[in-house]
Amino acid sequence: MLELKGIVAGYGGTTVLRGVDLLVPEGSVVAMLGANGAGKTTLLRVASGLLPATGGQLVLDGTDVTRSSPHQLVTRGICHVPEGRGVFPSLTVQENLILQSLRGEEKRAIERAVEAFPRLGERLSQVAGTMSGGEQQMLALARTYVQHPKVVLLDEVSMGLAPKIVDEIFDFLARLRNEGCSLLLVEQYVTRALEVADYVYLLNRGEVAFAGEPSELAGEDVFTQYVGADI
Ligand code: ATP
Repeated sequence: MLELKGIVAGYGGTTVLRGVDLLVPEGSVVAMLGANGAGKTTLLRVASGLLPATGGQLVLDGTDVTRSSPHQLVTRGICHVPEGRGVFPSLTVQENLILQSLRGEEKRAIERAVEAFPRLGERLSQVAGTMSGGEQQMLALARTYVQHPKVVLLDEVSMGLAPKIVDEIFDFLARLRNEGCSLLLVEQYVTRALEVADYVYLLNRGEVAFAGEPSELAGEDVFTQYVGADI
């Protein structure tokens, strides 16, 4: 379980997150919603160690990991798929996958990636930067998958993609979850995010405005106020 306790963080003198409490229980999908600029990306950056919190605690399976580096957190099983994809554009698909795999497990890592996204199998020797946006996003997700993550932080992974590709991505998220992985999902397709989520948090100006199950959210004023137009 990943716990964020009273997280305060920001950039320079600007505070963005003002004491955020959030739980990602083992094997669950948590959707984080909120208007533009609410602090969703900032929260994912804190959870992956990219942005140090100035207050509060990050706890993974009971261990305080607040001061851990991004690399240490990856080793502990927290993987971040950032907004705008995380692939090395000048390397081939295969090289991108191998870079993320454990030594000695390269072959298995490629098999695992292709199992999840068969389309990548046809493109192993293609330079990643020449693939379509959807294919690059699949590769970014596959790179995470080969690391056998415990918690995956997903920042708008379906942004700008065709509906069919979005379906494939959501199928992949279901696969991750079936393998016992927890997901913290920031997603512009609110309806789809709520369909797969066990819990939902609504962030407003760096504070949690709602936390609960998706079914509880529909009638809430906060929902209509901050994200309602989208559903
Ligand atoms: P969106 O849905 O638009 O991606 P968000 O909820 O993810 O928004 P964040 O990207 O976390 O919001 O941004 C929260 C606030 O922090 C915004 O006011 C933004 O301008 C500010 N911010 C984000 N990154 C930086 C940065 N590197 N330096 C300074 N301010 C930043």
